[in-house]
Amino acid sequence: MTELLYLDDSYLKEFSANIASVAENKIELDKTAFYPRGGGQLGDIGKIIANGKEYAVKSVEKNSGKVLHELDSFEGLQAGMQISGAIDWERRYAMMRMHSAAHVLAAVIYREIGSLITGNQLGFGESRMDYNVKDFDRNLLQGFEEKANEIVGSAMPITISYIAREEAMKIPEIFRLRDLFPKVISDFRVISIGDYDRQADGGTHVRNTKEIGKIKITRLDNKGAENRRIYFELAD
Ligand SMILES: [Zn+2]
Repeated sequence: MTELLYLDDSYLKEFSANIASVAENKIELDKTAFYPRGGGQLGDIGKIIANGKEYAVKSVEKNSGKVLHELDSFEGLQAGMQISGAIDWERRYAMMRMHSAAHVLAAVIYREIGSLITGNQLGFGESRMDYNVKDFDRNLLQGFEEKANEIVGSAMPITISYIAREEAMKIPEIFRLRDLFPKVISDFRVISIGDYDRQADGGTHVRNTKEIGKIKITRLDNKGAENRRIYFELAD
């Protein structure tokens, strides 16, 4: 299992680690600050330095508890070597703002009409979330957007905590993407937005809603009889 440094510090940009294994052009580290693609959030890119040589990290994914970093080359790398890693911070921070924005919007929509998310994909320009709902009309969407920007503007802290499984199961509203969570997990990582919202989540977030900027719902698509897709973007 790779120790996931980003879980408790989303702002960690550089770190040191040891190579656990090298296979093809992918390396496994004993710990990492690189976020592996998942939960609708894109994986990090960046670089690692080993023996004074720089390697580009092209993609990062999780496989059976191991975080695998795909590199442009693995020449000279072997298990046991110490490396230093640096994530592409500009890209990651954009993802963090998007991810926190998605939680704010999802919280507003859940509170207003009780809808659950059936899928989501965060992007750098535009992100999308799917809802199991028959109708979103334009006025409803505008209301969601206004309320979401109220939350953003009120500078609520966004914090990370852990809740034991038995306790977490008593708070159904924190599982808006329930299918995402492995059944064997003993403690759930929970992202809280002030006292407005709590969601079990493995992603990286900003520390305060004011870092999000302004949320703009851009368009709406019908994806089946009871599935609506909302697109949104952020303005600085
Ligand atoms: Zn999330």
